[in-house]
Amino acid sequence: MLHVDDLRKTLARIDGRGYKAYKDLQGSYAYPQFTLFIDYVQGDPFASPSKIRVRVPSTVAQIPPDLFSSRVRRIALQDFFIRGVHQTIRQVCQGSRGIGKSGMMAIDVGGQEVLERTAMVVTAQWIEARLSLGLPAQGRTVLGRQAEVMLCQEVPKIAERALQWTHVDQDRALAFVDCVDNQEAVRAQLDALGLVAFIADEAMLPRVSGASDRPLSGENAKPFTVPDSLRVSLPIPHPVSQNGMTTQSLTGLGIPKGITLIVGGGYHGKSTVLRALERGVYAHVPDDGREYVVTTEHAAKIRAEDGRRIERVNISGFIDNLPYGQETVRFSTDNASGSTSQAASILEAVEAGATTLLLDEDTSATNFMVRDARMQALVHKEHEPITPFVDRVRELYEQRGVSTVLVMGGCGDYFDVADTVIMMQEYQPVDVTERARRVAREFQTQRTIERTASLAEPDPRIPLRDGLDPSRGHREVKIDAKSVDTIVFGYEVIDVSGIEQLVDVSQTRAVGFALHLASRRFLDGQMGVKAVVQSLVRLLTEAGLDVLDPFCKDGHHPGNFARPRTLEIAAALNRLRTLRVKH
Ligand code: ADP
Ligand code: MG
Repeated sequence: MLHVDDLRKTLARIDGRGYKAYKDLQGSYAYPQFTLFIDYVQGDPFASPSKIRVRVPSTVAQIPPDLFSSRVRRIALQDFFIRGVHQTIRQVCQGSRGIGKSGMMAIDVGGQEVLERTAMVVTAQWIEARLSLGLPAQGRTVLGRQAEVMLCQEVPKIAERALQWTHVDQDRALAFVDCVDNQEAVRAQLDALGLVAFIADEAMLPRVSGASDRPLSGENAKPFTVPDSLRVSLPIPHPVSQNGMTTQSLTGLGIPKGITLIVGGGYHGKSTVLRALERGVYAHVPDDGREYVVTTEHAAKIRAEDGRRIERVNISGFIDNLPYGQETVRFSTDNASGSTSQAASILEAVEAGATTLLLDEDTSATNFMVRDARMQALVHKEHEPITPFVDRVRELYEQRGVSTVLVMGGCGDYFDVADTVIMMQEYQPVDVTERARRVAREFQTQRTIERTASLAEPDPRIPLRDGLDPSRGHREVKIDAKSVDTIVFGYEVIDVSGIEQLVDVSQTRAVGFALHLASRRFLDGQMGVKAVVQSLVRLLTEAGLDVLDPFCKDGHHPGNFARPRTLEIAAALNRLRTLRVKH
């Protein structure tokens, strides 16, 4: 290992030379209080930035071990430190220093969700921040002096202020880690209590705007109040304040397994509840407002997604007798309709392990959801390929154990199949289960149930390696996420905008690389989709997210990844247009 003085000397030597001279910096350097690793040096000022790591030994960092004593706490603590580094960079780093990415410094910080990320690693021996950095240039020449300011002044400030326990806000750190711990404790209790989700009293569900995921505040923001009939109380490991008291059990609305309808007038907050449940599969930061909105980890948001590809999915339980005798037992298309896409997405999600479906009328295909008595009279069943969801939703629960939470303000036919009906009224939930039952008895729907055969247990689909080629031109692996909605995979572009529980671009990137990892390790022509994604996620848990980068040298900065769920990885695989499966 070299010394920071060697780094200074190298920078003085290459000052004013061509940009490629920066490559000489690669290596590791001992500073008085930490070690700097320069793992990757960019080829030019516009290329993707250089990758460095700042590692502070625990003798200096002095983080109390209790803060990372479990997997959940460690992930929470890492996330907390990432946010601290992010802020410190904004305070101490000058920012742009010339053309391209010159002068930039960044850490991969998340939004409202707390996710496992490669950007920070806390072990018993050290804490390590993984940063990206734009080495400064004028034209194509090295700005050695500027680089020295970045690496020898700004980086040490970050190491000191953001990675040493004595300098961080300790109360906030503790509260952050305990809060995430509480959230996971709630999640761990759901199944045994017969619940699929929990929304705490006083939760703040609405967001500032469609463009901001921060909580709405001010007098118009109404906190959630739980109707007594649906209130449950769950013990948590760390005290919180709720209803003006400090308590170690949280009260809130428990959404039971089975079929739950969320009804209510337009603009009364139905979709806001569902969106909170969608996001509730992840932990949230303490001031999010939804930190105690907790959903089972196996909940899948399903929406209509016309235009998507479908590869040999047995959708016959929902759709059969298509025009021209097109087969739906192994249905493939490059251009799904609203209803076929929704049917396929449900079956794929269940195949991948979903035990709860989340649906919103706003994003569903009407003809997939309902077919009322008058339409049944006009268009006979033999001319209608669709068995609507209302005729399958109970069967999904009773035969397959798959619960559904459905926002439905426009159709009362679902009263007959619901176990629980929650009405949103001026943003407040009201338990109207009994009223809905009475209505269903008094106003019998005249429609006939259209289930023909029962939902077949589908044959496992076995994805084939051939369909997954990440190469492009001379590059063996070209995978990236352009945004949270788009994965570049070789020559393919996977549109994942319909996978609404992908919440972070680094998660999307991780999904892209996860598909490649799956194809190398698990696509052996034997394993079905569920086995593949489960093996993959097990590997990520055992080996860490660093394994996603196929070229990463042991311990080097692997790039920016955040952990995805099995359901999103499977969903992306299913949307890859070159995917081929065998039965
Ligand atoms: P719906 O699906 O019933 O039509 P939405 O959930 O889309 O209604 O909500 C309508 C509007 O009300 C949105 O702008 C949303 O941000 C806002 N809203 C939702 N819940 C609350 C709340 N608890 N307090 C204040 N505003 C809310
Ligand atoms: Mg809505």
